[in-house]
Amino acid sequence: QPGALFEPERVNSRGFDLRDPAVLEELETARKPWLRHQWNGGPLIADAVVGGVGEDVLNPARPDDLVGRVIQSAPDDVETALASAVPWDAPPDERAATLRRAADLYEEHHAELFALIAREAGKSLPDCVAELREAVDFLRYYAGFSTADAPRGIFTCISPWNFPLAIFTGQIAAALAAGNAVLAKPAETTSLTAWRAAQLLHEAGVPRSALQLLPGEGRVVGTALTSDARINGVCFTGSLATAQAINRAMAENLSPDAPLIAETGGLNAMIVDSTALPEQAVRDVLASAFQSAGQRCSALRILYVQDDIADKLLNMLHGAMDELRLGDPWFIDTDVGPVISEQAHKGIADHVAAARSDGRILHRLKAPSRGHFIAPVTIRVSGIDDIEKEIFGPVLHIATFKADQIDRLITAINASGYGLTFGLHTRIDDRVDHVDRRLRVGNLYVNRNQIGAIVGSQPFGGEGLSGTGPKAGGPHYVPRFYAVDSVRSRD
Ligand code: GLU
Repeated sequence: QPGALFEPERVNSRGFDLRDPAVLEELETARKPWLRHQWNGGPLIADAVVGGVGEDVLNPARPDDLVGRVIQSAPDDVETALASAVPWDAPPDERAATLRRAADLYEEHHAELFALIAREAGKSLPDCVAELREAVDFLRYYAGFSTADAPRGIFTCISPWNFPLAIFTGQIAAALAAGNAVLAKPAETTSLTAWRAAQLLHEAGVPRSALQLLPGEGRVVGTALTSDARINGVCFTGSLATAQAINRAMAENLSPDAPLIAETGGLNAMIVDSTALPEQAVRDVLASAFQSAGQRCSALRILYVQDDIADKLLNMLHGAMDELRLGDPWFIDTDVGPVISEQAHKGIADHVAAARSDGRILHRLKAPSRGHFIAPVTIRVSGIDDIEKEIFGPVLHIATFKADQIDRLITAINASGYGLTFGLHTRIDDRVDHVDRRLRVGNLYVNRNQIGAIVGSQPFGGEGLSGTGPKAGGPHYVPRFYAVDSVRSRD
């Protein structure tokens, strides 16, 4: 980005300390009234009210729990929204203040948002807290990049279900900070969280013509919003296949200077060598592979353990896995919730069943029979080449390596084409430098877990098949949402 590297002052959200029983009790009490609430959402279009019957939204942990209903956008709604989209021409300071006000509103409504995200997306309370913090951080951090430069115009923002609040908000906040009009298309399975968040953004003062919400099917709404010449840029987080389809649609229909800012998946690896501290490595493997039921694009998919510590480490890992609690994420002692949908469940279960018929299951927990639960499982593989595609669930592949094979692993990981996150557990400083120089990944984490990048301090995003950049939560992100010729160098 030409000359746009300045960093605004940054204060990250404090969130909630769930280890403090008083905080926890207060949260539980505040959340309770939302346990049976039903939200009724739908398109939010400037100057138009969309009526109709909404589709049921069910809780992935408890299929008899009706979270609410959501009205799907029809092709006509997309057209109306496109025709009413107006870039946000408020002065930069006012845009920034509005986004900061939205952050405060999100925090005020935390109890409702925690309940909605838990019930619609199946997230545990710690994940809900992290999700809200990240959303709020994006709002405040990107607000600092509001300048008098010219926006590109109209941005389509297509967000995923795995961070229904944080990534939904991050994409929109960046586009709005730069003064664009946004047409937001949230993931089908988490439209209600998006709808509630969009309402709060409007309440904070974002004009309805600058932010419109179009829930609906990807093949109807997503397709329309990525193949219309009036769109000046697309921001997308989701699968590689969809990113490639969007890229093709944009190439055919949009102006060639309309950027695609895409964040896709990964085949993320971790190497644990024989100098690593086993207790720490086990803790970080558990978090990286199984937190959020493995439904993060940053999650660990293949663990390489040096052969001389493999028996000990895997014994410890499997023992620790046995302590994980699977269940309804509404309860505070739940570690692993459901996967998002029946369809997701089937894809992951098929992969596990194939490994089982090949006799490659190393360890597996038991899953509750109701709800879309996949039991955390470890699967033996010979290496990353053995894994056909990203499996978006609590499934960890494990391979061993010999001391002199590190370079071969790096070559194989690079050759996968993905390059999102990577974890390294070692006490050898030279090895950290060695790996860092050779491995092509967006986020490299040493002696810690490899999830949960913090806005402003750990800009997040990969390369190759993992995405286009710029990294979310970093100083290059918002400048991409301004017209190129308007971004002048700043001192
Ligand atoms: N930024 C998230 C993390 O570091 C992952 C985002 C995603 O899954 O799309 O865990």
